[in-house]
Amino acid sequence: MKAPALTAVESLTACLWETASLSPRAMGIVRDLASVHGTDRVVVDSCQRLEYYGIGPCRCDAPHRLHGLEALHHLAEVASGLHAAELGEDQVMGQVREGVSGADGDLRALAGLAVAAARAFRRAEEFDTDSGRLLDRALQAAEVAPQGDLLVLGAGRLGRLVAERGAALGFGGIVVASRRPPDERWLQALNAAHVSLVDLHRWSSVDVVVGCLGATADPIDPVTELPPVTRLLVDLGSPRNFVRNVPTAVPLITIARIIEARSPGEEERRRRASTRLRQVLVERLAGAATDGASPLGRLRKNVEQIRRAEAIRLAASNPDLDPVAIDTMTRSLVNRLFHRPTEVLRDAPDLAAEIADLFEPGPGSH
Ligand SMILES: [Zn+2]
Repeated sequence: MKAPALTAVESLTACLWETASLSPRAMGIVRDLASVHGTDRVVVDSCQRLEYYGIGPCRCDAPHRLHGLEALHHLAEVASGLHAAELGEDQVMGQVREGVSGADGDLRALAGLAVAAARAFRRAEEFDTDSGRLLDRALQAAEVAPQGDLLVLGAGRLGRLVAERGAALGFGGIVVASRRPPDERWLQALNAAHVSLVDLHRWSSVDVVVGCLGATADPIDPVTELPPVTRLLVDLGSPRNFVRNVPTAVPLITIARIIEARSPGEEERRRRASTRLRQVLVERLAGAATDGASPLGRLRKNVEQIRRAEAIRLAASNPDLDPVAIDTMTRSLVNRLFHRPTEVLRDAPDLAAEIADLFEPGPGSH
């Protein structure tokens, strides 16, 4: 007998769109095409991809589709940051968790498994990077040195990380332009200045400009709305922040360009990481499939039923807590508690059967 989640993995379907550096118009078309999905599918909306996951086939117009274990592996890869422009960056994990938080039933179990596998994998790999490093990538791709003034458009998470990275790399002056000013202490710590987005064109010139504006920001015309840019223009927006290329000799680097510029060595690193992640995922799937026929299997199944019921109850009564985190933490606690008893009971099936009875869900249990 297979656990429900393991059986369901065979019918898991992922519909994938790559959206890095699309124009707002193209992005609108993709969102329109993707809107055919019903509420039984969950959407993972990250900076470079728009993906739908669900149980059962789908007939939408997605350019890429994955099934079964391939779909689950892909979800774990995305959550691990293996598809991010900056390998292993941590922001995408939050985006995936938010996306799958609305799932229920088998889809919830599968998504939880992929996220848990991704977290374990990230811990093992000791990933320690964030999307601020996209600034390094852009500078490398354009062969521009981190000198002079850096103007960052946007004070959201990406904008702040890029500004921090710019200061660490040695840019002389850091200026953050946004509608609302960022935290004053943060600006002081960075020795950065803040300006309003509407006042930018008044400046004489700036060396490097990085667009980090969110999807809802108005597109910016770099010719009329920005000061003259002398060395490099970087657009990290998805959709793109700038309406058209600057008609000067200044290079424009987008996320799509950063992805193109990856070295064969980096592609190989990503492939190897993906193989290691798959191992973690397959092990977790096998663990989830422990059958309930043996006394030890029955004990684990009973304990798992109680744990899951408690985790659901905890999540329901604590809406501020992340249900995936509750699930992961309770699972890890129970695993730890039962680790040694399980080892011992492996050689004592009769005792295991008696203990399994004690944990049999019955009247009065949750
Ligand atoms: Zn679809």
